Amino acid sequence: MDNEIYLDGNATTAVLPAALRAALLAMEECYGNPSSTHATGLKAKAVLDAARARACRLLGVGPGRLMFNSGATEGIQTAVLSALCAVRARRLAGELAGTLLVYGATEHKAVPESLAHWNALLGLDLELVALPVGTDGRHDLAALRRLAPAAAFVCTMAANNETGVISDLTGIAAALEGSPALWMVDCVQALGKLPLDLAATRIDYAPFSGHKLYAPKGIGMLYVRAGAPFTPLMKGGGQETGWRSGTENMAGIAALGAVLAALEDGTLFASHAEQCMFRERLAAALRQALPGIVFNAPFDDALPTTLNFSVPGVSGKELLDLFDAAAVRVSAGSACSAAKAQPSYVLAAMGLPEWRSSNAVRLSFGPLMDDATVADACARIARCGGALRLAGMLGEPATTRPDGLLQLSDGGRHTWLVLDAASGTCAVIDPQPALAERIDALLRTHGFRVAARLSTRNGAGWPASGDSIELGRQSLRRVMIGAGTPCYLLGPAGERPRHAFIGDAAPSGLAGHVPPEALLCPAAEALSTLCAHPAPAGDIDLDAAGLAALLRQRPDAVLVDVREPHEHAVAVPFLGVPAASVPLSRLAGELPRWMAQAGQVPLVFYCRSGNRSARAAGCLRSLGYPQAYHVHGGVALA
Ligand code: PLP
Repeated sequence: MDNEIYLDGNATTAVLPAALRAALLAMEECYGNPSSTHATGLKAKAVLDAARARACRLLGVGPGRLMFNSGATEGIQTAVLSALCAVRARRLAGELAGTLLVYGATEHKAVPESLAHWNALLGLDLELVALPVGTDGRHDLAALRRLAPAAAFVCTMAANNETGVISDLTGIAAALEGSPALWMVDCVQALGKLPLDLAATRIDYAPFSGHKLYAPKGIGMLYVRAGAPFTPLMKGGGQETGWRSGTENMAGIAALGAVLAALEDGTLFASHAEQCMFRERLAAALRQALPGIVFNAPFDDALPTTLNFSVPGVSGKELLDLFDAAAVRVSAGSACSAAKAQPSYVLAAMGLPEWRSSNAVRLSFGPLMDDATVADACARIARCGGALRLAGMLGEPATTRPDGLLQLSDGGRHTWLVLDAASGTCAVIDPQPALAERIDALLRTHGFRVAARLSTRNGAGWPASGDSIELGRQSLRRVMIGAGTPCYLLGPAGERPRHAFIGDAAPSGLAGHVPPEALLCPAAEALSTLCAHPAPAGDIDLDAAGLAALLRQRPDAVLVDVREPHEHAVAVPFLGVPAASVPLSRLAGELPRWMAQAGQVPLVFYCRSGNRSARAAGCLRSLGYPQAYHVHGGVALA
């Protein structure tokens, strides 16, 4: 996307134009096999040798070895295999080898997973020990000193991918003094960002990935100290002097070589001081836009290119979606499943409170960052903050009130809020404890008075006197559908009800109690006739071409953005066409109006990825609205 600002550099980076050209050249002209002895092969070999020589100079490889491979995950496997084979050999020879596999508690998962895998495969039965870190994210060196005498292999990282926290490698080396342990330092996030002089250290293995610094995915490097034990992961044609067989990824190596050339040249990339200035400006914009924000790692000991933060009351997923709508790509600092964000294990290991580790957002950039992009990012961050403020999500009193029906869900259970903006009254149906804080904050910031909190399970909350609860223009009535089991009917005062809150009742048992045209709003997703049915098969999905054709044939088609209103507010209009903003949580309130159109007007739902819009279109189709569609893959693909 043209206006995209990519701030997820710790996940991966775009390819440097010079690297792209080098890769193309390697495929078009220098396509030889570097092992061939004819001129075409020699040309490829020259590219390979030049890239390696640059890497060796930049990383201070000295008498050590630097091999090319597919990336850090392979480098980590190779280092782990090499270290564990050496431990096995030492054990067999009756030498001191250690019994512990020590890894930093905040390591990338590739490290503990590889340790456990190879430990089991080789049948070594060594003990895996997570080395704790402090609240600053740095390793507990006192704990390491205690573990060091029994350590067989120690794995730490140069800089953390979630927080940017830089490890005290000198301190770790001192703690390992006298230990038999081999030492791997994952240098993935350090490449191009921290000075490295590997041969001057005690480090035995250091893996790197090219795609974290403007080279393509699939190319990496592994440093091995001179004299450190080595066991090849891959045997075959004997490339890389037998250390890593398989014909070399020449396009990747050429591209990485071009990035290393730019690093050596030193003029293209922002200096450390400039990177710190960029961080200051971004942090100031974030502080201004998101009151209450906390940064999850001290800036002093962290890469200036990584900002990890949490905002009270706003989840990482919500912030990620909002930033994404503003075409600012960041990542939730925690792994998100569709249902629930998993707290970040890195922040949890630092002992941060649960709300910070589950709300975390990581914003990271590379040394190609420039002034104009920072300025644009700051302006968009301000817009995002404004949208959250308007939505009442920043804990400040909101200036406008939502109106109508709002559906909130947790773990497959629904709570329904009936909101009347004009009178400032509302009713809460089936309030769930897990949502209590959120509901209270929403009602408080919008200044709603709760007229009733009703349960469909046992009828609790219904006023002792009166047949109905009046909420401005809307009226709630109660009908009993079983002994002690109520259902609540909602509609404009004096008219037939449009919505029925049926709790856990089966729709089949409602005849005679609920008008057939009323929309059923259940308490459980499993029962839902609303937004729960899988979309009926048919032409519900529109790809870019299908969407264009539909809009040509039916200029009256209505585009509906089902993202949250704050996402809609910061987004550039999709296809430049005005769209209605109806988030999934408000769909039930809008349905009666659409259904009254009897399917005459095509409705095209869209969202970020196509998940929410598929549910909305599926819901309308299952209710009998034939011309409901959704944009497959969302705005991300269309
Ligand atoms: N180590 C660190 C610190 C990382 O950030 C990553 C990638 O996110 C890896 C290892 C694995 O790198 P790759 O997926 O390129 O093999």
